Amino acid sequence: MERLQKYLARTGVSARRDAEQLILAGRVKVNGRVVKELGFKVGENDVVEVDGRVVKPEKLIYLLMYKPAGYVTTVDDPFGRPTVLSLLAGKVKERVFPVGRLDMNTEGLLLLTNDGELAMALTHPKHQFPKMYLALVRGTPNRSKLLELEKGILLEDGYTAPAKVVYKKPYGKNSWIEITIHEGRKRQVRRMFKKIGHPVLKLIRTRIGFLTGYGLKKGSFRYLTPQEVIKLK
Ligand code: URA
Repeated sequence: MERLQKYLARTGVSARRDAEQLILAGRVKVNGRVVKELGFKVGENDVVEVDGRVVKPEKLIYLLMYKPAGYVTTVDDPFGRPTVLSLLAGKVKERVFPVGRLDMNTEGLLLLTNDGELAMALTHPKHQFPKMYLALVRGTPNRSKLLELEKGILLEDGYTAPAKVVYKKPYGKNSWIEITIHEGRKRQVRRMFKKIGHPVLKLIRTRIGFLTGYGLKKGSFRYLTPQEVIKLK
């Protein structure tokens, strides 16, 4: 037996936080009856419905994708732009969702899963994995500006946590900088560089914790190994 919201998260319908909203909104039935109680326990033999449709836990899968620029990291896009999920069409039957976001114009590593619990744990501000980016920025930031980024810089939503910043190499009049952050605020890396006067021209996520893009081509994905999944949890 397990809590209803946990069961719902395993069905891939939603992350657990959203599952709680579904329950409270009276959209979830167990064995034909609306259940609004968050602590309600269900077992494998119970029939659970969301909005009148029976939902069952799926096999949990974990994918690492190399997202190309030009794709949005949402499940549905109201503007009809291509989504990262369209890259899985016909290849993955489980309904996965992205863990965190990459901007449409950012490329690089993205995790996708139908494990709502893991997704929630990984995006929780408390225990975020370090995420490494390669940023092509306009001009050449001097050492003191990069130090500002390292220490933390004031953005509209507060100071950023300490980051690791490494100048890599010039690219014409511009520069490639490697930056590792432990947070996942909206457009964070772009806003950080903009704040020091060196806007990002191109952004690539090269690492999520211990996961690298080794062997992954743009637009392709691979399944995580069982060992990698254990390490993520
Ligand atoms: N920071 C950004 O600014 N954009 C991303 O896509 C990821 C991190």
